[in-house]
Amino acid sequence: MKGFCPGPVENHRGREGGAVVYPVYSRRSKGLSIGINLFPDHKVCSFNCPYCEVFPFHSDRAFSLPVMEKALECVLAEAAEGGIPVRDICFSGNGEPSLSPDFQEALEAAGRIRERFVPEAALVVITNGTGLLKETTFAFMRDAALGGMKLNIWLKLDAGTPAWYEAMDRSGIPFDALIGGIRRFARAAPVTLQTMVCAVHGREPPAAEEAAWVHLAAELAESGGYGAGVRAVQIYGKARPAPEDPLAEALPEAVLERRAAALRAVIGTAIPVEVFP
Ligand code: SF4
Repeated sequence: MKGFCPGPVENHRGREGGAVVYPVYSRRSKGLSIGINLFPDHKVCSFNCPYCEVFPFHSDRAFSLPVMEKALECVLAEAAEGGIPVRDICFSGNGEPSLSPDFQEALEAAGRIRERFVPEAALVVITNGTGLLKETTFAFMRDAALGGMKLNIWLKLDAGTPAWYEAMDRSGIPFDALIGGIRRFARAAPVTLQTMVCAVHGREPPAAEEAAWVHLAAELAESGGYGAGVRAVQIYGKARPAPEDPLAEALPEAVLERRAAALRAVIGTAIPVEVFP
């Protein structure tokens, strides 16, 4: 068992060395988060965000479900031995998790292991939402969120306009199609919205973009009945290096707080709106 146990890492770079399971201290989880990386050999994503923290890499370690299971069991057993509480088991890693052919099986396995070792910990997937355009993935994620797995879905919503979406996410998937999928999902299952607020090419989000994002986030919140659909909104800033630096740059915390205040002014306090500079 010992050979499967990865050591703690201070940031997410361990996954670029082929790590499948990587314990990190997460500012958004506010504690120890056990990351799961479905792409230990190369990045796979439907977005190409200028702020993306995944540096170019290649390893010959293909994803293996038995290895993931053993490593996760080992890390959770060590955390328990050390009396360290685990806040969550989080699927993110080098790309968009729902693009992995192992996505569903790996989540189900992690859910079972969570029940055995840390039933109080959350099971989280961080997604850019493009998987929701595929019916089978949509249905799986909806059922996982509503059913016994109690999957927490942290869903990226970087932009309220096609122009800013193009600058922030650089995806071949049309903005309207993606937002249509997100709208549909937010009416069906609970999500936490995550928005990166940063400058691109030295330009902060224009006022019209900010207004459109507030309008869209509020609409999504209302569509689920204030808390049934959107359970929280996280506005976060660029805090770590990215291979394309300085294409994307951090903005002052006041800009993030202004964005949060603009949303709170519309939706009130029914849903937490948090800022992570
Ligand atoms: S969605 Fe995530 S993994 Fe994909 S490019 Fe953007 S930041 Fe990187």
